[in-house]
Amino acid sequence: MSQNNTAAARVLPPEELIKQQEFARECAELLRQRFGEDHALLALVHSYGCQQNTSDGEKLMGMLAEMGFGFTETPADADLILYNTCAVRENAEVKVFGNVGELSHLKKARPELLIGLCGCMMQQAHIADKIKRSYPQVDLVFGTHSLPQFPELLLETLRRGKRVFRVEDSAGVIAEGIPVRRTPGVKASLPIMYGCDNFCTYCVVPLVRGRERSRRPEDVLKEAREIADAGFKEITLLGQNVNSYGSGLPDGMRFPELLRKVSEVPGDFWVRFLSSHPKDCTKELIDTIAECPKVCNHIYLPVQSGSNRILKRMNRHYTVEWYKELIAYARERIPGVMFTTDLIVGFPGETEEDFMQTLKLVEEVRFASLFTFIYSKREGTAAAKMDDPVPKEEKSRWFSMLLDAQRKIGAEHYRGYVGKTFRVLCDGRSPLGLTGRTEFNAVIDFPGDASLIGQFVQVEVVRADKHNLSGVVRSAD
Ligand code: SAM
Ligand code: SF4
Repeated sequence: MSQNNTAAARVLPPEELIKQQEFARECAELLRQRFGEDHALLALVHSYGCQQNTSDGEKLMGMLAEMGFGFTETPADADLILYNTCAVRENAEVKVFGNVGELSHLKKARPELLIGLCGCMMQQAHIADKIKRSYPQVDLVFGTHSLPQFPELLLETLRRGKRVFRVEDSAGVIAEGIPVRRTPGVKASLPIMYGCDNFCTYCVVPLVRGRERSRRPEDVLKEAREIADAGFKEITLLGQNVNSYGSGLPDGMRFPELLRKVSEVPGDFWVRFLSSHPKDCTKELIDTIAECPKVCNHIYLPVQSGSNRILKRMNRHYTVEWYKELIAYARERIPGVMFTTDLIVGFPGETEEDFMQTLKLVEEVRFASLFTFIYSKREGTAAAKMDDPVPKEEKSRWFSMLLDAQRKIGAEHYRGYVGKTFRVLCDGRSPLGLTGRTEFNAVIDFPGDASLIGQFVQVEVVRADKHNLSGVVRSAD
């Protein structure tokens, strides 16, 4: 079902990166003048939305660290606040406007405070215009395509003392070598591709993140080795549709091979990936998961709807039968494999009958977890022009029915785990002592010593409540 016709992506020339490093040094000088020689600069970078955005946020922090910034999560302590925004649903945008509004009193009290907005929401001209008109406290706005030029844009803001807006239309580039400040912990994300060419009719991503483009395998593998050497225990490969990785790359490496190679990087870590579009999910990929012990036996495969009529209107290019066949094949090849999916409720023109088919699919597949969303109209998408006669209350009723069904399934899964022992990556503390996740992302709390944080341990589940699992350590891994 794959259609791979993407041309080779434009890679940002290394000279451009060197130029940006020079701009970062000039920023550091002007920031010292603005805040004082002895002032310890602090930045707050908040990324809304998906893991791709969080990963971009780590690059923005890398660039800020080069300018001499440390980091804070308290707006009142920050000298620079940067919100890396999300445009996928309207409520994400509403949240950003609310949070930016709240910054006006900080800016009034400290006019030297720098406030910037970037990311998917800012890539839309109508949003950038609204910020220009109605949010004078914002100094700098730039879209997703201008992320590599952040030092240059900040320098312009500092030099001119005027507001800077940069929203460029572009197919997107690949920028290697931007410094990354990874969030400390046990998990790291690793983008393998950017953008999307699928144009699902409800989705704004192709409009704000540009055309699909894959990083070169050697760059991905180099970064995977760095992450493993730094001691991270989980690597998540990121892309809007990782299954179409490699389109347009000269050596033609495809996702299953890349996944295998990442899992062959020396070290004890798990490998995950997201998202995986069902139309491009091949048996070869499922076989690779089965054969690579480091790849988690957990597949995140967003189905969006259980109705073929709606899938067609969504431009998803697969059927429910195709999806169920994939699930059946994976269950045959990978004993114990679990699935997570995304579902949209109330897509334009969806009927009660369509919704019931979604509910039926959820009951049949018995997902480990669901991400459910009420359809949100996005400007510029094909679905925004479709008739949407179903009242909000009806959509909310369907949404609650879906949550109830999944709650019941989740509780049944949890009860079935009691008495079983799982490999768990211990990632923090809990009221019981420690907490960790299984490879299918179930959270288990258990008593234990803090020295286990960051380690794999074998934990037997001894109790299951509706939302919690508790266990005891059976052995270090
Ligand atoms: N590329 C991924 C895929 O195809 O599965 C998903 C990326 S999207 C950022 C994450 C999820 O947001 C989608 O799977 C979809 O369920 C949801 N989503 C996207 N656009 C939406 C919209 N307009 N309204 C509601 N949910 C939406
Ligand atoms: Fe959006 Fe579809 Fe692309 Fe996923 S595959 S990012 S849902 S257009």
